[in-house]
Amino acid sequence: MTDEKRVRRRDATKKSWAEPWKVKMVEPARWTTREHRERCLEETGFNTFLLRSEDVTIDLLTDSGTSAMSDRQWAGLMLGDEAYAGSRNYYHLEANVQKYYGYRYVVPTHQGRGAEHLIAKMFIKPGDFIPGNMYFTTTRVHQELAGGTFADVIVDEAHDPANEHPFKGNVDLGKLEDLIARVGSRRIPYVSLGATVNMAGGQPVSMQNLRDLRSLCDRHGIPILLDATRAIENAYFIQQREGGYGGKSVAEILLEFCSITDGSWMSAKKDTLVNIGGWLAVNDVEKFDEARNLVVVFEGLHTYGGLAGRDMEAMAIGIEESVDDDHIRARVGQVEYLGQKLLGWGIPIVLPIGGHAVFIDAKRFYPHIPQDHFPAQALAADIYIEGGIRTMERGIVSAGRDPETGRHRSPRLELVRVTIPRRVYTQAHMDVTAEAIEEAWWNRDLATGLRMIYEPKYLRFFQARFQRG
Ligand SMILES: *Cc1c(COP(=O)(O)O)cnc(C)c1O
Repeated sequence: MTDEKRVRRRDATKKSWAEPWKVKMVEPARWTTREHRERCLEETGFNTFLLRSEDVTIDLLTDSGTSAMSDRQWAGLMLGDEAYAGSRNYYHLEANVQKYYGYRYVVPTHQGRGAEHLIAKMFIKPGDFIPGNMYFTTTRVHQELAGGTFADVIVDEAHDPANEHPFKGNVDLGKLEDLIARVGSRRIPYVSLGATVNMAGGQPVSMQNLRDLRSLCDRHGIPILLDATRAIENAYFIQQREGGYGGKSVAEILLEFCSITDGSWMSAKKDTLVNIGGWLAVNDVEKFDEARNLVVVFEGLHTYGGLAGRDMEAMAIGIEESVDDDHIRARVGQVEYLGQKLLGWGIPIVLPIGGHAVFIDAKRFYPHIPQDHFPAQALAADIYIEGGIRTMERGIVSAGRDPETGRHRSPRLELVRVTIPRRVYTQAHMDVTAEAIEEAWWNRDLATGLRMIYEPKYLRFFQARFQRG
């Protein structure tokens, strides 16, 4: 057929796409009975974190460390150089962080919170304030343990699950200016910038907002440190939504984004497709020296940071794969597919649909359950009972207690996170998941809240236990 005779599709975006990989190895998933699942939840105190993985059929608890590695990554494991010092895999990792994220100096850590710990120790003095675009659980706890106080400076839209602002991760510069005026820039060691913002529902920060933030911070001499855990998903949203970026690759956008910041910490268990790992990266040589010094105390030598050589090799390869445009389009596309399906049935979710997860609005799902009876915790339990699908609470339990007053922090967002591991599940798994959630939606009037019967002191959502009623 000659070109002139070809009928063009009117809307190229409507074309179906497929994942840019095929399956080479499979792991069985186990189907269980409803009675079995009810018993499991009773035994684990209605906390999905305490379930055994064997009792879960589709595991959407988290996208952390749950990715499927590629054949190249698995091959990379065999190239592990397990020398105590100066492993060649460290140099490969260092080169790829420099190439794709653009920072000068790299220190590996066993995972993200290892890097957060070192950053907090390096930058924060007791009495400091750390502004950030919404808190993250482990990030904030390290800031607090270092004597700092977290201050939320995210835009108001982020706290409204129905608001469809395209960049709900943005920093509200007015809020940051107010904080600077109130406490003084000398008590603000850095701005803690998350991209994309997990707790807001996987919502991105725009390039323009970061540039404006940079100007403000430059006027006051405040560094910007990036939580780069999902910065690649953020770069994809910039490509899709921000004027002038449609023609750029995700890799180019990532590099530009990071170049506006002074350093970062990373949970490589998310964007970069490995089961364990992390790093911190800075441009300032003095901060690098300090980090290299601290890492030997808490993680391991600065050329392995608590990891095996093979883990660093898998990370170095994972970085290259994770910035591929086809990969990231399929990754976020799968989340979008699940979210659209739920929306079609009128199920209340956070909009716009996030990059790594669909967040169900438990306040609108179970309006009859008051927040101190943990509606999102109860909904995560009910979704597990319906289909053996494991999700998690992101609401009042995750928010914890105020260290000053000892009272529950009551966040406006009371959510269940349905988190999609990268390259692990198929579209059929998404359909089965959606149907289990719809089942809970049909029976929503029958749902009851929970009581907390055991509460750990730190990061209570991981190990708290509950009872019905
Ligand atoms: C997971 C995560 C972290 C912590 O990283 P770990 O690897 O779990 O220690 C920090 N920030 C964000 C946004 C995360 O999602």
